[in-house]
Amino acid sequence: MNFFDLHCDTISKCFFKRKKSMLKNKYHIDIERGKFTFEKWFQTFAFWMPDTINSDKAYDLFLKQYKYMEKFELPIYSKSFDSDFKAILMVEGGLLLGKDISRVDELKNKNIKMLTLTWNNENTIASGALANGGLKPFGKQVVRELEKKNIVVDVSHLNEESFWDVVKIAKKPFVATHSNAYNVCGHVRNLKADQIREIKNVDGIIGLNFYKLFLEDNCRNGIDALMKHIDYFLKQDCEDVLSVGSDFDGADMPDDIKDITCVPKIKQHISKCFGEDIANKIMFENAKRFFEKTFN
Ligand SMILES: [Zn+2]
Repeated sequence: MNFFDLHCDTISKCFFKRKKSMLKNKYHIDIERGKFTFEKWFQTFAFWMPDTINSDKAYDLFLKQYKYMEKFELPIYSKSFDSDFKAILMVEGGLLLGKDISRVDELKNKNIKMLTLTWNNENTIASGALANGGLKPFGKQVVRELEKKNIVVDVSHLNEESFWDVVKIAKKPFVATHSNAYNVCGHVRNLKADQIREIKNVDGIIGLNFYKLFLEDNCRNGIDALMKHIDYFLKQDCEDVLSVGSDFDGADMPDDIKDITCVPKIKQHISKCFGEDIANKIMFENAKRFFEKTFN
């Protein structure tokens, strides 16, 4: 099968766990298992940094993680899917920009394709799901600059006020790389119905997150819970919007989705419940189409 994942934290996980190998490890994703599991595999890798450090430290941490990642000589996606495995790069947490707009250029030069504006707390751009307040004046400048440089705005992690402020000024499609439906699982990181409608309206995409706490309260069967989210999204006419943003190596997974080798089993369930065409769209085609439209 083919798999397109809009979000994992494997680079940061390996980096923080004393620089373990991305090629082979015991975490949710390594390159060896991914390549073995899929025919075509387009995997987004996030550079994550905590909210608790200052912006210069965060930028420095990004550069260190980047240098570490380069050791593995991954085929990094720039503008075409010309091999069966591509690593797409994103940054999770706009904190690293500080108040320096020129850092957007640096991200562009390093082939960063998406920026999650915040993590869970407040930064110089906006406020995350656990904080109050909307998009700041510098944040507006950031959204415009990202759009100008063709880096996609990721609204996962934003609080609602910041989300709607982005909606007001965005001129290009934005995405929620790793968020589920709030009406199925009422977690503050999940998307309300009107947010889902808005992302669909702007031709963005949404990545289904496998994190236990975003799937269901007291999640026992992750795949069953995931089917409930998919059912809900499909009822909101999101057949062409829905993708996957697994959150592998960034969150606790349910027992039945222990790592990337479980993805074929998830696809089988989607096929069984909603048909094979929908399964192909969610697991691969919707995200691929979005990337081709955006970066070709
Ligand atoms: Zn995240």
